[in-house]
Amino acid sequence: MPLLFRSTNGQAPLVNLRGAFHAGLAPDRGLYLPEKFPRLAPDEIAAFAQWPYHEIAFRVLSKFTEGIISDHDLAALCRDAYQFPIPLEKIRDRVFLMRLDQGPTASFKDFAAQMMARMFGHFLREDGRPVTILTATSGDTGSAVAHAFHGVPGVRVIVLFPIAEVSDSQRKLMTTLRNNIRTVAIDGKFDDCQAMVKRAFADPELKHLPLSSANSINIGRLLPQSVYYFYAASRLAKPGEPMVFSIPSGNFGDAMGAVFAREMGLPVKKLMVPVNDNDAFPRFLASGHYEKVVPSRNSLSNAMNVGHPSNLARLVAIYGGQMDETGRLHRQPDLAAMRRDLFSSSVSDDRTRTAIRDFWTRYQLLLEPHGAVAWQGFLDWLAVESPGDTPAVIIETANPAKFPAEVEKVVGWPPDVPRAMAAAIKMPEDFDRMGADYEEFKAYLIHKHAA
Ligand SMILES: *Cc1c(COP(=O)(O)O)cnc(C)c1O
Repeated sequence: MPLLFRSTNGQAPLVNLRGAFHAGLAPDRGLYLPEKFPRLAPDEIAAFAQWPYHEIAFRVLSKFTEGIISDHDLAALCRDAYQFPIPLEKIRDRVFLMRLDQGPTASFKDFAAQMMARMFGHFLREDGRPVTILTATSGDTGSAVAHAFHGVPGVRVIVLFPIAEVSDSQRKLMTTLRNNIRTVAIDGKFDDCQAMVKRAFADPELKHLPLSSANSINIGRLLPQSVYYFYAASRLAKPGEPMVFSIPSGNFGDAMGAVFAREMGLPVKKLMVPVNDNDAFPRFLASGHYEKVVPSRNSLSNAMNVGHPSNLARLVAIYGGQMDETGRLHRQPDLAAMRRDLFSSSVSDDRTRTAIRDFWTRYQLLLEPHGAVAWQGFLDWLAVESPGDTPAVIIETANPAKFPAEVEKVVGWPPDVPRAMAAAIKMPEDFDRMGADYEEFKAYLIHKHAA
């Protein structure tokens, strides 16, 4: 019996993984969550110590794909998706930096995008149903998704990005691909792009396309993001030993991966989920009042410029509450439990720069702005709670070469550019451009790029 998924708004029928995957957003505009989390036994988790990453991915993801994708096929998809290293660099005693920046577009988004593209490809081979993937990006999702789906038959990808908020290399990593990939620069903010995408999903006049999403509203994005937490524990913790993770957060999809891992049985003592100036979550955690940041604030860690993180609806649901897509709370979650499990601080651009500089001076390890938010968020937690001997992992979500100007300003020299990235960004760019106007975008979807 395949696992079923429910909507956080509670008004949509249960669906299986395939249904949740294709829909992206549930018909009641909620987000899908497993009706009940599958559990991994402690000895299954302990055995991960002997397996390579793709094998751990297979063992974790197979709990969700039972009855949907055969184990044989899933194992092959995992092997194919995860061909790059995952460095765990020692910062100091039992404190490590996990670099999730070695994939094809040098951000952690590759972990989910690579797997999702293969799963979509697998479903398509089975049912022959072509699909348009519509995605909004604040910088890294777009390039990861575009690269992962580039050349996948039957899949068309349309990426919306805020023209003024992405770095040159972030933009070039998505605008140089062509073929089945189309990029649209929006004169607006990331939140505008995300709102346009969400509206398109809910629009009955676009039902014929059919549209699907590769944003972290799609459950297919979150499941692969739980795997690297298991991986880190398998390399750094003793069997059964709890860990702490610091995860730089924007839409809270990466953080949800860690929460999923914990729900599946990974021992976690605390999750740090620091944010930049977009501080809706830490304010909510402190006060119990949720207020979006409108408009979202620009900051150095641009992939986290999110005024209203969509995954909070999932987080709130896991703690027994209900938040709708507008951010309205219909039922309070168990705030005491959230405060026990999570810690969140807001890290300004000044503190981000200082963190990059100090981290380099002290440890000779290079961070970019998102990883620096993770490090500073960890330090903020250390100021209020003692970790004892608990192993800690700071998540570095992008390669410093994606932010060359900022890194050079702080440490005095430009970071090395990974070879794959250097080749990609030399190709000629090609993208469309429009205002943050839904009707214009809708016409574009229907006329210019209808299947
Ligand atoms: C997307 C992104 C984040 C934030 O991840 P969320 O899942 O949106 O919280 C952090 N760092 C980088 C480099 C990113 O691309």
